[in-house]
Amino acid sequence: MTDTQLLSAAEQFGTPLYVYDQQTIETQYAKLQQAFSKSNTRFFYACKALSNINILRIIKEMGAGLDTVSINEVQLGLKAGFEPQQILFTPNCVHFLEIEEAMRLGVHINLDNISTLEQFGNKYGNTYPVMLRLNPHIMAGGNFKISTGHIDSKFGISIHQIRHIERIVSRTQIQVEGLHMHTGSEIKDVEVFLQGLEVMLDMVDHFPQVKYLDLGSGFKVPYTASEKGTNILSLGEKLAERIHHFELEHNHPLEIWFEPGKYLVSESGSFVVSVNVIKQTPATVFAGVNSGFNHLIRPMFYDAHHEIHNLSNPDGVERIYTIVGNLCETDTFAWDRFIPEIRENDVLVFRNAGAYGFEMSSSFNSRNQPAEVLFTGNAFKLIRKRQTLDDLLRNQIWEA
Ligand SMILES: *Cc1c(COP(=O)(O)O)cnc(C)c1O
Repeated sequence: MTDTQLLSAAEQFGTPLYVYDQQTIETQYAKLQQAFSKSNTRFFYACKALSNINILRIIKEMGAGLDTVSINEVQLGLKAGFEPQQILFTPNCVHFLEIEEAMRLGVHINLDNISTLEQFGNKYGNTYPVMLRLNPHIMAGGNFKISTGHIDSKFGISIHQIRHIERIVSRTQIQVEGLHMHTGSEIKDVEVFLQGLEVMLDMVDHFPQVKYLDLGSGFKVPYTASEKGTNILSLGEKLAERIHHFELEHNHPLEIWFEPGKYLVSESGSFVVSVNVIKQTPATVFAGVNSGFNHLIRPMFYDAHHEIHNLSNPDGVERIYTIVGNLCETDTFAWDRFIPEIRENDVLVFRNAGAYGFEMSSSFNSRNQPAEVLFTGNAFKLIRKRQTLDDLLRNQIWEA
């Protein structure tokens, strides 16, 4: 999808607008398959990154499974056509009833709390196999907010509680079919994954019934031209070697699972906005756009960097801008960027906006959530209508 095509999508559907390129998702999946072809590997797309049902259908067509974190995500997956056994439910701090609901739907379940494990074992014994989400206590990722493996993390059961887990498993006869870890997002260093792998392999020895070793995700994608993503080719090589060695030594075959979210959809997504005003202050030149953190929260929430480009004036002279939104709240997308001269009504694009973009949007300030469009077969297809005032009022109880 070219920038000229993106600009035409903005004209056709209006802004703010999320646009996803199907081919990029397919290319990313092919890269993963290639990198991990030397081990017996399955991928479950972490759909909290982008859960439009049309995207889920693309994922299903590619042959991947689905990683879900809420019962509604499980239901979306089933509606998109996934078989229950292609879906993995990895919730955190949910009520036991939600776990029982997932069980009724027949999906793989990851338990991440001792008390839940105990309740599940007491009630269902060996009748429904489960997976355990462990916290390997590895500090990973660039940002505390997106790291889940540290000591204060609410995610997973600590590996130091292994004796307690073993007592529950032996008393309730609960079948542990898999072990899981997910230590955070944006992990560039291959060694961090391999360190986690070692910890997990030590744990496998405690559970002879384990068939699946789920290493979660956290694959980093580059957000700037100079940044590097996770070297998945190198990881794939080293992982395969280590797993083969383990399988031979322990006579214990393992299927490796990954749960990529960002890696599959981030680069497929563009977020397109229009410039309302140029505002010069004594200190800076602001470009104020028709959006805010209500539509793309990553810069404000994670200090994330998204490349910004001027689609309507690509050859303009580069000048320095601070890009802000139209909310009555500080909503800075980017400080001091060199961007081809921005004029009022120009159309800008935020790159790499496919993951945790629309998905984390809201209607704060009673502004409508953006429309979503899929670029497929060289054409644009609307896959979510722009929100309207009626949508904002839909569940409110009032008399006109
Ligand atoms: C969010 C999440 C993922 C996906 O992480 P990415 O960084 O988007 O790849 C995978 N597994 C679990 C359990 C998650 O919560």
